[in-house]
Amino acid sequence: TQASNQIAAGEVVERPVSVVKELIENALDAGSTQIEITIEGSGIERIRVQDNGQGIPAEELPLAVLRHATSKIRSIDDLMQLQTLGFRGEALPSIASVSRLEIISRPPAEISGRVLRVEGGDQLEFDHIGSPPGTTITVDDLFYNTPARRKFLKSKNTEFGQISDVIGRLSLARPDVSFILKHPKVLVLQTPGRGLLLESIGAVLGQATARRLLPISCVSGDWQLKGYISPPDLVRSTKQGETLIVNQRIIRSNSISRAILEGYHTLIPAKVYPIVVLNLQIPPHEYDVNVHPTKMEIRFHKEKELMEFIAEGVRRTLLEAHP
Ligand code: ADP
Ligand code: MG
Repeated sequence: TQASNQIAAGEVVERPVSVVKELIENALDAGSTQIEITIEGSGIERIRVQDNGQGIPAEELPLAVLRHATSKIRSIDDLMQLQTLGFRGEALPSIASVSRLEIISRPPAEISGRVLRVEGGDQLEFDHIGSPPGTTITVDDLFYNTPARRKFLKSKNTEFGQISDVIGRLSLARPDVSFILKHPKVLVLQTPGRGLLLESIGAVLGQATARRLLPISCVSGDWQLKGYISPPDLVRSTKQGETLIVNQRIIRSNSISRAILEGYHTLIPAKVYPIVVLNLQIPPHEYDVNVHPTKMEIRFHKEKELMEFIAEGVRRTLLEAHP
């Protein structure tokens, strides 16, 4: 029902940045190599995500905004093996219930696309339309029908800051995908999408920073740690410059943050934070994610050993650069 969609929306879409993240993760799940995001009014007026992925088949399009209509789980096995980013089938219905939503989509093999328009959860239009291959989702007037939620939004600068931050981190997790962010006409970010992490870091954090970072690369059994970390004379007073990625997902993890600092602080004084992009590849059965729909919490089964591995990787990188 409409009410239950709006309640679910409270869980999944707290603010504009959560909508942006869900839409981008859907685009990534669809195998896109190019994702263009346009933001107007800090996401409250308009969020548009255009991708060149596999598209949504015409017969599935009206279903995509109904609850639990995920195309990503077909069996319990799928649930256990989950590699895609979304799997609850709640994002689109939730977004649809609290905005004016338009989806234009064309699977590459089709000759024309379809457009679906939904307002506050009610379908207004479903029709043929000319469209490039891929999917374009436009979310207008977010929370127009839930004024209480709208009141909880922070200033426009804060909301947009969160959006550009999450897009930056998503693009660092997927250097093989080209991300473009426009607000609304100004080009805020563009990554080349050639699969080179350092190129994406240059686009997100600036070329001057990228040039100074030290590469991290170490292996232990089936664990692999790769990424970049700043030298001790390029540090910040907050954790703002930290991007943690596990098997291509951006995550938050206090234990990993601590492990990085532990490796780092053996060499320099405490209370400063490196700029760091850390990519951890570990077997999917060695951790649990997801706990909460929007927060990417993660629990590692071999936490202690893994954190020692990370701290040691950081320590060794710094020692090699500053023996
Ligand atoms: P979930 O991602 O959890 O499956 P969503 O509500 O986010 O659920 O999306 C519902 C369904 O709509 C997805 O399972 C997928 O089939 C389809 N979909 C959404 N966005 C896209 C996209 N950009 N490209 C292709 N299919 C999409
Ligand atoms: Mg999704």
